[in-house]
Amino acid sequence: MDRHLPAPTGEAGLQGQRELWAGEGRVSRPRWAWAQDEQGCQPRVLWAQCHLALPRQGLKTGSFFYPGGNVTYQGTAVTLSRKEGILHNYKDEKEWRANIDTVMRWFTEEDLALVTLYFGEPDSTGHRYGPESPERKEMVRQVDRTVGYLRDSIERNSLTSSLDLIVTSDHGMTTVNKTASDLVEFHKFPNFTFQDIEFELLDYGPNGMLIPKEGRLEKVYGVLKDAHPRLHVYKKEQFPKSFHYADHPRIAPLVMYSDPGYVIHGVSSCWVHHSPAGGSLRARRAPCLASPQCGHSPFSVH
Ligand SMILES: [Zn+2]
Repeated sequence: MDRHLPAPTGEAGLQGQRELWAGEGRVSRPRWAWAQDEQGCQPRVLWAQCHLALPRQGLKTGSFFYPGGNVTYQGTAVTLSRKEGILHNYKDEKEWRANIDTVMRWFTEEDLALVTLYFGEPDSTGHRYGPESPERKEMVRQVDRTVGYLRDSIERNSLTSSLDLIVTSDHGMTTVNKTASDLVEFHKFPNFTFQDIEFELLDYGPNGMLIPKEGRLEKVYGVLKDAHPRLHVYKKEQFPKSFHYADHPRIAPLVMYSDPGYVIHGVSSCWVHHSPAGGSLRARRAPCLASPQCGHSPFSVH
């Protein structure tokens, strides 16, 4: 591996990484999270592993606005990092270019071996205005121009032959009908009670996971499997094999997804991405679940 620059990506795909970097107590970690080592968590995501592995080989790494990237993990921190402020404006194209210029300098002047760089769009605009909105279409163009600027910058800095550019993305979107007469609402399912549940990840789009309390798996599964025609509930070992959920320690015993356009609602019918602060907590602790909808569904709300 020479120099690597994973660039723009989003948060949903990084939820696992939030756990990775939980060693410093900077981010919350679900209490059922998979203790694996002395820090209570283990890196499983490629870029995080690189951020850990490269410094141990004497190489320098950097993180520019990358979620979790500026947190020390297992005593290892990136060499250079920038963290955005709480009210950061993620839409500023001029700033994006300046950030790219900085990253280029990190490679050419600071000799970094790996930099992770993050842009918060078109995710934010898509959530705010909807995937089909003119605002989002314009933002996609802006991102496209920025990727062009990034590629040109790599060339301008004579890094083309030594720098691998890896572009990753967050998630797709589909428009959600908030007023549908058949919303998927757990709190309205007959015979279902959260009293049977040890831990739930619901209210975060079309995916969900549940850990039933000891001895209640069959009961909960029985109640949920035909509870709603738009909801598809699986025991993890029965989920389509291509997802490799069956033995995965991060997958809860019950996994579910809803049809495109339907959000899974838990204790109430909240809308995380249009909710004020309280609702977003759920988003923060939810992992990205690959599902049959992944790539063209996780949600947006009008
Ligand atoms: Zn998003």
